[in-house]
Amino acid sequence: MAGIYIHIPFCRQACHYCDFHFSTNLKTQGEMVKSIATEIRNRKDYLNEPVKTIYFGGGTPSLLNVQQLHHLLQTISDNFKVVDGAEVTLEANPEDLTLEKSKMLLASGINRLSIGMQTFDETKLQWMNRAHSSTEARKAYENVRKAGFKNISLDLIYAIPDHDQSAWETDIKSITELQPEHISMYGLTIEEKTVFGKWEEQDKLVQVPEDEAANQYLYAIDYLKDSGYIQYEVSNFGKEGFYSRHNNAYWAGVPYLGVGPGAHSFDGSSRRFNVRNNARYIKAINEGLSFSETEILSETQRLNEQILTQLRTAKGLDLETFEKSSGKSLAQLHAAFIDEMRQKELIEIEDNCLRLKPLGFLVADEIALRMFFPEE
Ligand code: SF4
Repeated sequence: MAGIYIHIPFCRQACHYCDFHFSTNLKTQGEMVKSIATEIRNRKDYLNEPVKTIYFGGGTPSLLNVQQLHHLLQTISDNFKVVDGAEVTLEANPEDLTLEKSKMLLASGINRLSIGMQTFDETKLQWMNRAHSSTEARKAYENVRKAGFKNISLDLIYAIPDHDQSAWETDIKSITELQPEHISMYGLTIEEKTVFGKWEEQDKLVQVPEDEAANQYLYAIDYLKDSGYIQYEVSNFGKEGFYSRHNNAYWAGVPYLGVGPGAHSFDGSSRRFNVRNNARYIKAINEGLSFSETEILSETQRLNEQILTQLRTAKGLDLETFEKSSGKSLAQLHAAFIDEMRQKELIEIEDNCLRLKPLGFLVADEIALRMFFPEE
């Protein structure tokens, strides 16, 4: 089963920490939707399997009107076999979620929302240049529930400077009180080409020390567990039956088509990267020019990706299956390292699966990197 990702590259305003691909020039929205629909039609042979998940990401997909979203969904169903009951997610910002629009979104076929709340602290929302207030976010949540959405994910950010442990605990408690089906939690990272990156360079912003960030993360893991959320990946927590099917498929190496500027696709053996520029994307689509680059994955890249993505999941890395498919025994190759990580309480091995423990999740990428195979 395959997935489709649609990148909607517009935002009302730029959050100070964000380095995703988006533009705040909203004038080309109509043209962009037409171009993305053309890309969907042109690439209808990219996937050989039925589509089980559709994901509108961005940017801010909820900026589009419902007719535009419906048009893209219709174009997908006209050109791909979409299974009954497919998961259709829309990333949405609170300021877009009026009761009326929420009802129309549900009626258009979107059955899962991922809402960027980030924090309940009004001053921090302003400091990060988010386009919504905490009160608006709560109202948006009320609206989508009233509209009938039964699968809602909320995003939170931890390790926000000058947002101490007690402020973080308030955020976690507030989010669980809302009872969403799913919660994603990301540490604030300071990226070079963002406003925060510049502030850091000018000593106007100091990142939260690692140990404080770790305490916030570990606190959240415990609190969410006690509140009935199962951690199924480093940053993702869901109630039973409400894990993100789209992301799970991505981590399992399932093929997916990515359309829109900046989107990536994967067909099982190669990755394709669309240009991260709205004007160039639209022009290329209109004129039938190339707008992407393709990278054929080497055997080593594929194995390393498998290690990285599987280690980040709570299921862990199945050592036996990995050995059967690759002919390489990670347990033997990294015996000393694995032993060291076990003693440090970073990992456990159970039923031949190497799994990260809470402390290990904090350094998941570093652990994976140590187990990577070198390119020949
Ligand atoms: S709304 Fe989302 S994509 Fe847009 S700038 Fe903010 S974080 Fe980035």
